Amino acid sequence: MGRFVGNYILDLARRCGVESMRFSAASWRCVISSSLCCSSGFRAMAVFLDGLGKRVKIFDPVGFCIYCGAKDNLGEEHIIPLGLGGNLILPAASCPTCSDITGRQVEGAILNAYWGAHGVPRLRLNLPTRNPKKRPKKRSLKIMSPNGEVRTITISATDIPLAFLGMTTEHHRPGILRGAEPTDRFRGAFWLKYNDQELRKYAKPGETVEGIGKFNPFTYGRMICKIAHALATAEYGAESFKPFLPDVILGKSSHLTHYLGAQVSPAPDLQGLHNLHIGWLETAVPPYLVAYVRLFCNYGTPDYMIVVGQRRLDVARPL
Ligand SMILES: [Zn+2]
Repeated sequence: MGRFVGNYILDLARRCGVESMRFSAASWRCVISSSLCCSSGFRAMAVFLDGLGKRVKIFDPVGFCIYCGAKDNLGEEHIIPLGLGGNLILPAASCPTCSDITGRQVEGAILNAYWGAHGVPRLRLNLPTRNPKKRPKKRSLKIMSPNGEVRTITISATDIPLAFLGMTTEHHRPGILRGAEPTDRFRGAFWLKYNDQELRKYAKPGETVEGIGKFNPFTYGRMICKIAHALATAEYGAESFKPFLPDVILGKSSHLTHYLGAQVSPAPDLQGLHNLHIGWLETAVPPYLVAYVRLFCNYGTPDYMIVVGQRRLDVARPL
């Protein structure tokens, strides 16, 4: 299930054994699961279903672009994209150039209603959109039988089987916390969880379904890093830390797994639709600023750990 970009992502899908791992006695099936260490003493924020898209928290204006430092024509940043129900706003925080990169290249690819990694949950959970008229009425699924026959069906967009895409990384902790050299390679697994009962209305066991969404770990990771970086700036102030992520977010560096690790918690988090945590990892000197981002947390999705930056000791601002 799912449609993948590039051969290496197909390999990831094979590695994670889509057919072999199943959640028993439930209609949800999942391709990967593993354990998760939680951190205490972190600041937590949650996005709740009843506040979707509403401005529930507006932080202090930043006054410069949090990605490149430019000071003119600044726009606000949604810490979690509006299209995922984000309601945490960072005013005067992004220049037009960086806003185009993060908005169009990164978030636009993930939120796309036809093929974005989170297109299906956006339709099914009725998450906000800037263009309600452009929301699709129909979606297509391509179904392949084991003997290679292919059929395409068109269904109402609101009937598309609910599914969540994400990823896990080979090492659950970001490379920088393990003393690893930065790498351009992504080693990990594609993660997928879908409602089997809903899928069985259209496909028989053994058939392959294409059309849920595309997934590229680098694009997805850039969005997760953007959320973490904006959250860190909102909570602690841009001057409190030396940032690690702007080049990754802007696509100038592909050292994604040096700063990001992902694993799946065995249990869903029932507090809110998305959960964010951020705090200082005091075991490093100077301490690292670390964020945890879990989107669609109440469906038992992967938890992403991101090292956002390192404390600046020359700044006396209270933390
Ligand atoms: Zn900028």
